[in-house]
Amino acid sequence: MERLANYIGGEYQAPLSNRYFENTNPANAKIIAMVPDSNSEDMDKAVHAAREAFPAWKRTSLSQRSKILRKLSQLILEHGDEIAHLESMDQGKPVWLASSMDVQRSAANFSFFAGAIDSLTNEAMQDQETLNYTWRDPMGVVGLITPWNLPLYLLTWKLAPALAMGNTVVCKPSELTPMTAFYLTKLLEKAELPKGVCNIVFGKGDPCGAALVKHPDVPCISFTGGTKTGLDIYTKGAAQCKKIGLELGGKNPQIVFADADIEECVQKTVQAAFLNQGEICLCTSRLFVEETVYARFIEKFAGYTQALKIGDPQKKDNFLGAVVSKAHLEKILSFVELAKSEGASALVGGEALHLEGEFAEGAFMMPTILVGVNPKSKVMQEEIFGPVVCVHPFHSEDEVIALANDVSYGLSASVWTRNLSKAHRVAQNLQVGTVWINTWMKRDLRVPFGGTKFSGVGREGGVHSLDFYSQSKNICVQLS
Ligand code: NAD
Repeated sequence: MERLANYIGGEYQAPLSNRYFENTNPANAKIIAMVPDSNSEDMDKAVHAAREAFPAWKRTSLSQRSKILRKLSQLILEHGDEIAHLESMDQGKPVWLASSMDVQRSAANFSFFAGAIDSLTNEAMQDQETLNYTWRDPMGVVGLITPWNLPLYLLTWKLAPALAMGNTVVCKPSELTPMTAFYLTKLLEKAELPKGVCNIVFGKGDPCGAALVKHPDVPCISFTGGTKTGLDIYTKGAAQCKKIGLELGGKNPQIVFADADIEECVQKTVQAAFLNQGEICLCTSRLFVEETVYARFIEKFAGYTQALKIGDPQKKDNFLGAVVSKAHLEKILSFVELAKSEGASALVGGEALHLEGEFAEGAFMMPTILVGVNPKSKVMQEEIFGPVVCVHPFHSEDEVIALANDVSYGLSASVWTRNLSKAHRVAQNLQVGTVWINTWMKRDLRVPFGGTKFSGVGREGGVHSLDFYSQSKNICVQLS
């Protein structure tokens, strides 16, 4: 069994306490690795290494940084099979999905930001007497804290622009899914990223992540994870006036109007609700269907959902693998039980799936469609983050906009209609960071990505990421 190590200053280092915890494969409950249980002293070493590496990395040319990022992208693709296998083993998702989504997107994150700095321009303004121009400085040592649902995908989404802009970084991946971050360290070596530019410290949120947030030599933290953790990080970071980016939870509505292409919509809804076991922050969790097509829609939706295969993540025809842990499965089930106790019913699923043999101890949840859930209830208001979707009928455009906005989250939404004016009107009235019209989760890496309300602060993507990982300075020159 593998024993992971922290990657600090280009060296593999055991945690100073010499303490480790177990990392389990949620599909079969087997222990796959021992993970460093790092503390604030390990974090301090990593920040120190990043600080030492900063002046030289800041001076590297954009073309040199771009070259290293492109190399990393290529290496991820070359090692895609190993990465997909590790991601699946760690998180529970099917290998086919890890290959087609996580690996591809992780590679694209590096190649995209390599290109973005190749074509980066800054503002200049002139009048008769002065020239003003913008100079971008990197932030320094940047802390990156990431969750378990898309481990390498989300880590590289932050790492690539942070490195591109000349920062050095300390990463704190989720304690539940450390495998691909550890694998990445080998690729960083192959890409000849200078020692100390990227450091990875494994451990729990508190003390390990908390030490990164509190560290006085880390002026900038980018966090993706749960809202409760995000608020804690925001408050602690504010005490030191840090730049904080937060990508948090969601409770995403999908609105289906009667004039939508129902067949296409149902097929996409199956993905939107259940892809990656529903463990994507953008998954549809509240599905509002116009009353006149409600019965037809849910009949079709139930049919497709019942046909989904679940189980062995290695098997290509399984659409769902395991959820991330037994504890998470219990949390999902508790939401379903609560809904049932409040009078809702499970049209499909509603319980854990117990498999035989190798997977008997696995954390498998049946894709679940709940009907009859009160929109004000906890199940409709709080993030479940599993393969559970609540369906609710609506009668008018105004009513559904109010329903969709009636949560504390505001990450994304999708709207299905053939009426173009209605689509734009509804999209503009939804209090979310992203609206998809007649589609779901199409991601263009140039667009602003982030949440409103309790779904986050700030935007990632394209120039928004480059702005986040740098600070602009105006230089004013007297011309005459
Ligand atoms: P989490 O908040 O429990 O943990 C996220 C990371 O924060 C982990 O690395 C964890 O160790 C660390 N952490 C925990 N406590 C900390 C503390 N006090 N100080 C510093 N770091 C700490 O979230 P999770 O359960 O890993 O991830 C699931 C959540 O992530 C869901 O809410 C999901 O919606 C959200 N998410 C959001 C997006 C987005 O782009 N908005 C994307 C993916 C996931």
